[in-house]
Formats: sequence, structure tokens, C-alpha cells
Amino acid sequence: MNYIERLSEPLLDYTYPLPRYAMLGIFRGTVGRIVDVILDHEHGSRFPYSNENKFTKLEFDQHPVLYQKVISLSLKMGLDLPQIFLILTTPHAESDFSSNSDKKNPQISIPTIYAKNYPLLHKSQVDFSVAHELAHAFHDHRKQLSLFKSAALVSDLCAFFLFGVSGPLILETCFFTPLEDYIYRKQESEADETAIKILNSSEGAIETFQSEIEMNQRGLPKGFIGDLTNTLISLGKNLYPRPKATEIINQLKDLASKALVKLTYSSKGNRRDDHEHPLLTQRLEAAKSFRPV
Ligand SMILES: [Zn+2]
Repeated sequence: MNYIERLSEPLLDYTYPLPRYAMLGIFRGTVGRIVDVILDHEHGSRFPYSNENKFTKLEFDQHPVLYQKVISLSLKMGLDLPQIFLILTTPHAESDFSSNSDKKNPQISIPTIYAKNYPLLHKSQVDFSVAHELAHAFHDHRKQLSLFKSAALVSDLCAFFLFGVSGPLILETCFFTPLEDYIYRKQESEADETAIKILNSSEGAIETFQSEIEMNQRGLPKGFIGDLTNTLISLGKNLYPRPKATEIINQLKDLASKALVKLTYSSKGNRRDDHEHPLLTQRLEAAKSFRPV
């Protein structure tokens, strides 16, 4: 599967990463690494799990089907049985399933699965999502990343003592931040591939990616230029003789949110602000190319 390189959509996917890398470079190079966590929290679902109250641990008899699935897949991959948590509110989590190591007992490092919309998913989608998260544990992806982050931190410190603030700034912007995104995407494609192989079926993967793509495309506002023109016309009408401030503000807000959606999602249904996963269309294509053995 060679869909790791994701800068394949025109215009925004080339321009978007540059300010982002510069921004992350400034924060991580100068303000400190702690901001990394906050930015990642904003950006994806890697660190949204700070509030323990959001989770309820799933017991076997609450969801025996899900548990049996997790047990059989864990055995297949030779992994310890993970804990399963149900997330009650996850404003930041993008995916229905995610995995993380145990925050309370990091020394035990039990892989943990968080299921958000579990009851809403098809059986094959649950199979794929669980297998994908377990595949991260199987490949020890978190360890790879923390090794990388430690190496980056040491290099940043050395660069700081050699060149001052500009050292880590340039190192982060031009090298470590893009490389970290690349590692994330490589790990995600590896997890997809392993999950599909373990299940010996790409049905769940295809369903998952297809439905996400369709959802993203459905959310795209139609006739944006028309909306823009109408807003401008009504703005002109409303400015004189008596400005209707709330009406104008609401129209501008509406237009701005539509513009934001347009910027975030491509017409093909990909998310432009997700730099940690390969493009959905690429993941779908790779899943479709799988032949069961
Ligand atoms: Zn993943």
C-alpha cells in the first residue's frame, strides 16, 4: 500500500501544511513541547482523553458481542486483552474508535479501546475498527512515536544551545513536524493493512471509508458563490437607512461557517486538516485493492 504520501489534492493541501508547520515550529521550538499536546488535542483524537469522567468501562455482560470480537482478534494478534471504554462525550474525537495506552497506569500499558458510536455501526465496520486499533498495539506504534518525540526533543535542545531560539524553530518547521505527520500516516496505513489481513476481508474498511467520504460530501455547502453574492447584496440593502446588526452578523456567521467547511473538506470527501491519516480516498482505494486469501 503506497498511499502514505497524501499531498495529492490540488491547492489547499499544498498550502495548508506550510503555515501549520511554521505555527507548530514556533510553538514547539520556542514555547515548549507541552503545547504540542494542546495542539494535537485540537487537531485530532490523540490526546483528548484527559477527563476521566467521560468514560465508563465496559463490562463483559454489557456488550458481550463486542467483547467476544475483541477477545478473538486479540488472540489472533497475540495481544493481551485490552480494556474497553465507552466514551460519553467526545467533542474532539474524530473517529468512532480510537486506542490509547492507560493514562492512570502507564507502567502497565494495557491497550485501551474507546468506542464512541459503537451501537450505530454495522457489524463489519466494528470488526474493522477494532482490528485497526488492535493493529496499532500489535505494531507498537505508540512506542515508535514516543521514541521519535524523545529524539526530536533532544535535537531541539541541542539546536537551542547551538543556535538559540531559531535552531529548534527551523528544525521543527522544516523537519520534525512534517516527519511526525509522515510517521502518523505510515502507522495508520500499516494499521489498515494489518486489520484487513487479519480479518481477511476489506468489507468493513470499505464500508467505513465510504460512509465517511459520503458524510463529508453531504456536509459540503452547495452554491457557495451564490450565497456569497446574496449576502453581499443583502448587506448593501441593510446598511442603509437602518442597519439590522443582528441580521447582518448572522448572515456573515453563516457564510463564514460555510467557507470553513469548504476549506476543511474537499469535493472528493477528504479532510484537508487531517494530517495524521492518509486521505480517505486513498485508504478506500487501498482497501478495494485487497484480495482475500
Ligand atoms: Zn489508527
